[in-house]
Amino acid sequence: MAEHSPFVSCALTLSGLSFVAGNRISRGDASFTARDAMSGSPLDPPYIAANIEDLNEAATAATQAFRTFSRTSATARAALLRSIAAGLENCSAELVERSMAETALPQSRLAGEVARTCGQLRLFSAIIEDGSWTDARIDRAIPDRKPIPRPDIRSMLVPIGPVAVFGASNFPLAFSVAGGDTASALAAGNPVIVKAHPAHPGTSEIVAAVITEAVAQAGMPAGVFSMLYDNGFAIGQELVKHPAIEAVTFTGSQRGGRALMDIATRRERPIPCFCEMGSLNPVFVLPGALAEDPRSQAKGLYGSFTLGAGQFCTKPGIIFVPETEGADAFRQELRALTAASSGFTMLTSAIAEAYHRGLAERGAIAVSSTAAETSSGQTRAVLFEADLCTLEANTLLNEEIFGPSTLLVTWSDREELLRATDALDGHLTATLLGTEADLAANRELVAILEQKVGRLILNGYPTGVEVSHAMVHGGPYPATSDSRYTSVGARAILRFVRPRCYQNFPQHSLPEALRDENPLGIYRLVDGVLTRDPL
Ligand code: NAP
Repeated sequence: MAEHSPFVSCALTLSGLSFVAGNRISRGDASFTARDAMSGSPLDPPYIAANIEDLNEAATAATQAFRTFSRTSATARAALLRSIAAGLENCSAELVERSMAETALPQSRLAGEVARTCGQLRLFSAIIEDGSWTDARIDRAIPDRKPIPRPDIRSMLVPIGPVAVFGASNFPLAFSVAGGDTASALAAGNPVIVKAHPAHPGTSEIVAAVITEAVAQAGMPAGVFSMLYDNGFAIGQELVKHPAIEAVTFTGSQRGGRALMDIATRRERPIPCFCEMGSLNPVFVLPGALAEDPRSQAKGLYGSFTLGAGQFCTKPGIIFVPETEGADAFRQELRALTAASSGFTMLTSAIAEAYHRGLAERGAIAVSSTAAETSSGQTRAVLFEADLCTLEANTLLNEEIFGPSTLLVTWSDREELLRATDALDGHLTATLLGTEADLAANRELVAILEQKVGRLILNGYPTGVEVSHAMVHGGPYPATSDSRYTSVGARAILRFVRPRCYQNFPQHSLPEALRDENPLGIYRLVDGVLTRDPL
């Protein structure tokens, strides 16, 4: 479909204030400073924390906005999402410049993230315009059914209510203010209140200004979008507790995600809290592939575990390798690449400290390691090595180290490998590097992994998550809080809807999606048969 998005201008002057339903306010006493991730020097302006009054205003406005926003046409919401995408593209240069300073991520990666963020917004526009995502179902009445008549029953997915979105540190655009969570929540018809991540407040401010302007230009209620700054956990926790909020999304640490899940559950009226909390993403190099080309397997994995300084939830954090032909060459190559690795700058000093803590804890276990030689102040790539026995004896080895490090585990007994795989927690992905014959010989391994992860990859790498209709970026706890959902791809919208049923309602009182004539022309399940035909 052609785009007719209104021009959205860029916020050139950063104010350091929150966005509360279209107003720039932060009435908190505390402030924090954005930092240049490379030099550590402060970046203007100081960011003022929101207070509870700001939160209440944003929440009240979101509740009010929900009444009208949830009933807007898919066409109107699709236009809003496209307008946000157009606005972000218009501000692309400013966004890339500011986020480079705040995150130390390279220009190409950040330009790619702007494109990905806009692509996500447009994907959800197309999905809601198509309309079939609402999963409309019609079971027609059977008045003469015996022993009792069947009533007319119709149902579809409807928006859930205001959604709290926690921006992620490691994707300043694609998983932050206008990222996949916000795009899918707005697409479904839910207002959004973002808790900005303090690692990139200026980037967040530019994006929030674009969304705010797009909402105003679309003539939608201002409460459709708010974004709050905080210099600690208080506002984020109050946001999750707030009675106006109906769902929460979060991408970050296991500790943070678990804390928010617990708050959401302990509320007087519990709400779903969709947390994506990271993962070890086990990789299995299988004997056939190892014998064929051990050095390229090592090169590929080195590239994957150091990509973006290892700050991806899909980083391969554990690699299982058999003691078969090619194992020595594979190990030597991986060690050599790690030792020769250049230094990395991490997203924040806190993430760098957490990385070094993780390395020290792992180093205290009886595992060998190879570390890159780099100049001081830079983060080093580290390869740890252990055998299956050591892995089984040390639960710490199953914990994610967020940064350019991985653990190589060698095995020689298939039964022991299967046992160790069975002992793995839930993860986002599992990767198999193998030949057709390897795959056929490892059906049991695959069957175990199918129970453990959201995405299985053959001869590829887990880093790099396509935003598409079929993608699953989820997995059993503790990778996520709810293995039934994905935070990337078309199905991400399903986190922010609930099914609603109408029994015996007259045509004129039904939503358009459920009316006999099918005015939206969507796919519907009519008496169990998928069709676009009118009744
Ligand atoms: P984080 O500490 O989990 O924080 C993410 C967001 O949640 C921040 O806005 C943070 O607030 C908030 N938060 C965390 N704990 C909270 C709590 N108990 N109550 C209320 N709000 C809370 O993640 P991070 O700052 O991005 O990085 C820290 C570590 O998280 C990394 O070292 C890494 O291990 C992990 N991480 C994982 C992923 C992943 O993809 N799974 C991504 C990024 C980071 P503040 O504003 O106070 O920071």
